[in-house]
Amino acid sequence: MEHVLDVTGLTTQFSQKSSTITVVDGVTLSLKKGEALGIVGESGCGKSVTSLSIMRLLGSNATTEGRITFLGRELLTLREKEMQKLRGKEIAMIFQEPMTSLNPVLTIGKQIDEVLNKHEGLGKDESKQRAIQLLTQVGIARADEIYHEYPHRLSGGMRQRVMIALAIACNPALLIADEPTTALDVTIQAQIIDVLKRIRREKDMALMLITHDLGVIAELCDRVVVMYAGQIIETADVRTLLRVPRHPYTAGLIRSTPHKSKGLKRLYSISGTVPPPDEYPTGCRFAPRCEHAMKICFEKMPDLLPVDERTICRCWLYEQTMERPVVNV
Ligand code: SF4
Ligand code: MG
Repeated sequence: MEHVLDVTGLTTQFSQKSSTITVVDGVTLSLKKGEALGIVGESGCGKSVTSLSIMRLLGSNATTEGRITFLGRELLTLREKEMQKLRGKEIAMIFQEPMTSLNPVLTIGKQIDEVLNKHEGLGKDESKQRAIQLLTQVGIARADEIYHEYPHRLSGGMRQRVMIALAIACNPALLIADEPTTALDVTIQAQIIDVLKRIRREKDMALMLITHDLGVIAELCDRVVVMYAGQIIETADVRTLLRVPRHPYTAGLIRSTPHKSKGLKRLYSISGTVPPPDEYPTGCRFAPRCEHAMKICFEKMPDLLPVDERTICRCWLYEQTMERPVVNV
């Protein structure tokens, strides 16, 4: 199947006063047409910076190396003007806090009109009609009234629906959603997940979903990439990853995810915290927190290698022996 996005060896560094820190370290991933890929990890693992690198939305203190191919085009060498045309039209993005992405002084309608005018060249009447259609598509009742409202008059869930409407206005081939439900309460979260599910199906659009929440990934994604301390540490299809996690960090993430069947039992939490980029240990970056750590783990970094037909994993447990230890979850 056609690849929409191929990221190869993506490395993003930030220069600080006297040093350079590597926040994304050699990330390789791809997305097929219509596929939904989840990127999961704790905050600070580099998942947002990965997406901002793809969109080329990082500040001037950032340098990005590697290759990012979007529908046959090399994004890292594209002229900024071309990149601007692509953003919002062919690759769209939604964020955690819709209020900061919406313009508070413009009505919802005006903001959608602007996008449709800029990218599709639609005139006033045509774009109004289309805007109302889009708002209806994301489940907004009375779309013709909401069209005239200002963002502050809407609830968080409604604002996120508006953001999705804006994002899909030009039928992008790729939608990047960074923690799209994190700021919302649980029932609204479920509604937004449903909207994303439906839109994805209807538009046959590729979705890159960034979240710390494996539950959201389980609902929406086909495949998942787990990141830790700037690197990919495991990738598999969602079912396999949730049922047979190979990397101890992935197993820990699953154990610490609330689930109905777990009831109100106290949840497991992985001890310790993600080290900051300038303090990554030599060897496996998860070693200081890993219950299975061995001597070699502190000395040498494991490679990201297939452990079977379904899973790719970065862990010495699999490289050292051919036995496949079962990680209890
Ligand atoms: Fe744990 Fe070693 Fe695997 Fe790292 S390489 S996750 S320390 S067992
Ligand atoms: Mg983030």
